Amino acid sequence: MLGYFAAAGGLYWFLYLRQSSRFVIDSTEQTTKAIWQSIHSDVILSVLSSGIFSVCAALMTTVYQLGYTRLYLQPEQYGLGYLGFSLVLVLILQDTYFYFTHRLSHHPRCYRWLHQGHHHSKNPTPWTAFAFDPAEAMVQAIYLVGVTMVIPMHLSVLIAVVLVMTLGALIHHFGLRLFKASAMGNWLGSWLVGPTHHWLHHRKYTVHYSLYFTFWDRVLGTQHPGYEDVLSPSVAEKKIVPSANIETAPAALSGKTVPFPLPFKKAS
Ligand SMILES: [Zn+2]
Ligand SMILES: [Zn+2]
Repeated sequence: MLGYFAAAGGLYWFLYLRQSSRFVIDSTEQTTKAIWQSIHSDVILSVLSSGIFSVCAALMTTVYQLGYTRLYLQPEQYGLGYLGFSLVLVLILQDTYFYFTHRLSHHPRCYRWLHQGHHHSKNPTPWTAFAFDPAEAMVQAIYLVGVTMVIPMHLSVLIAVVLVMTLGALIHHFGLRLFKASAMGNWLGSWLVGPTHHWLHHRKYTVHYSLYFTFWDRVLGTQHPGYEDVLSPSVAEKKIVPSANIETAPAALSGKTVPFPLPFKKAS
């Protein structure tokens, strides 16, 4: 919980509050009071989630002590190459698990009790990173307990997965672009979920359910048709000024904004 307040609070201050920051949350679409209410809701849910994550960590420790996990402590046990392989495998499986459970949580029968809390913020901020309804926190945390019982995993790999999860959740909720539009940013954004990708999910619930990789959104047709245009340097260079009634993609760290959905077609 202390880590959450330090990381989310520190990032929020760095990105939005410090004097030299160029970014402000757009208060033309949300009043300052509404923004703080969203942050308040995010913090309450995150505190509840950290309690649930702690219970799951205790459960994992108990299951380990009883000898039911496949966690191991000697790095050489399966060879050093396996450390990297198991890390990638666990992340790919988690991405798949998250995509389908996340998509299911948007079903009208599940949304209210499973996922509504996370979408309280239309402008996600680092405070939103761990804002899960208790049932959703349980669904996501139980993955790690389950996977340690099935896949042999060195303790360092488990720690690396938790770090990737934590950093990923914080970065995805920056509410700002991580990179200014460039060929490299475009390529990375095409394959990896980043702040722009997830920001669009907070605006349009029928797209962008993935966690780390854009693979499932591409394959199952839930990637927004204008997403690659938003990433494109040729589009960002046009420096289009958004009109008041059009969504804007999150500002890049360069400070540029791009209207979204785009009011023109991609040049062929
Ligand atoms: Zn969602
Ligand atoms: Zn989110």
